[in-house]
Amino acid sequence: MKVLVINCGSSSIKYQLFNMENENVIAKGLAEKIGLPEGKIDLKITENEKKVEVVLPIPNHAVALDKVLELMTENGVIRDKSEIKAIGHRLVHAGEYYNGSVRITDDVIMRLEECSDLAPLHNPPNILGVKTCLELFPGTFMSGTFDTAFHQTMPDYAYIYPISYDYYENYKVRRYGFHGSSHSFVAARVAEMLGKNIEDTKIITCHLGNGCSIAAVDGGESVDTSMGLTPLEGIMMGTRSGDIDPALIFFLADKENGDFNAVNTMLNKNSGLKGVSGISNDMRDVRVARDNGIERAELAINIFNYRLKKYIGAYVAAMGGVDAIVFTGGIGENDWEVRQKSLDGLEFIGVEIDKELNKTIFGTEAVINTRLSKVKVFVIPTNEELVIARDAKKLYDLENL
Ligand code: ADP
Repeated sequence: MKVLVINCGSSSIKYQLFNMENENVIAKGLAEKIGLPEGKIDLKITENEKKVEVVLPIPNHAVALDKVLELMTENGVIRDKSEIKAIGHRLVHAGEYYNGSVRITDDVIMRLEECSDLAPLHNPPNILGVKTCLELFPGTFMSGTFDTAFHQTMPDYAYIYPISYDYYENYKVRRYGFHGSSHSFVAARVAEMLGKNIEDTKIITCHLGNGCSIAAVDGGESVDTSMGLTPLEGIMMGTRSGDIDPALIFFLADKENGDFNAVNTMLNKNSGLKGVSGISNDMRDVRVARDNGIERAELAINIFNYRLKKYIGAYVAAMGGVDAIVFTGGIGENDWEVRQKSLDGLEFIGVEIDKELNKTIFGTEAVINTRLSKVKVFVIPTNEELVIARDAKKLYDLENL
């Protein structure tokens, strides 16, 4: 069974075609600069490692997807689009509506639209992706996997902000959390590697990519996570600040002639590693700058590690213990120093990593704790697309078998 996974942004579509018999990626690629005269689409075929790239005007998402299908057909990836039995969409915000993946129906689209003001940058392009696929693949089974869904198990005292309760009742202002597919994927894999039922585990999952979040997963359920109403809350990220004193917003808006938009942009796009280092949002660049003696680059890395460590400590407390800590995402999978420094000093709760082994792990699955460490520490490459494809297949099978 072939499942197509679609991740639709405002000017790009990432796609992966899975063979669900063995969960292998048959082909994947990216259509980018949609809406511009010089768009680009690429296709990478796993079997023969062939790469195809075309540059063309891509006026809209429908043209982009149509061209992707044409490239797949021309290059023998599929005979025609009827071979694709299900499409799984990566969707961002489902508010409180869904705690798992769902079959796409008119109701789901309506609710996604309803939640657009909670995720104005993500939900509208997600909806566009769904509608485009409905046009191009009439009658094909489609499902949606939400970034927020996994965290719907948080208890109310973890998700309600300590502000006037009216705002929750009137506007659904609360903590939602994101990166749900990634946190659930790596937690499930850790339980598997521990040889335990996930119900019997307490796991802290650290997703450190451009966006960063951490979750406390107790018995397989998210009981807390660092992102909140939006992905701005929590640990420090590439361009986002993470937690700040909310009064800072009014202080700065006052200094900037009441320009709240400027403050919003600063916190989301010019803060985090980029804002503090003044160099880049990319950890690799910040590290090179630090190695060249740029002090603010060093400060940025120190803040990143310190804030991550504080959250790890908080989640050990929230769960009353921890069996395993797992690192994933571009930084979590590749940056040994972040892994070491964010866990430094946590020996008193039983966390001890093998420092030499840790230094050798880049982007592969590994157990990096010492033999005597009470808490196990893992590096696990995340695979959000596979979660989406698995859910699409599961929902398809429920209706078709
Ligand atoms: P996204 O959230 O966009 O999916 P990724 O998960 O790819 O992002 O993570 C991007 C981050 O991972 C960047 O900060 C990048 O510098 C970092 N990264 C990637 N490779 C390495 C590496 N070898 N060492 C340190 N950081 C890395």
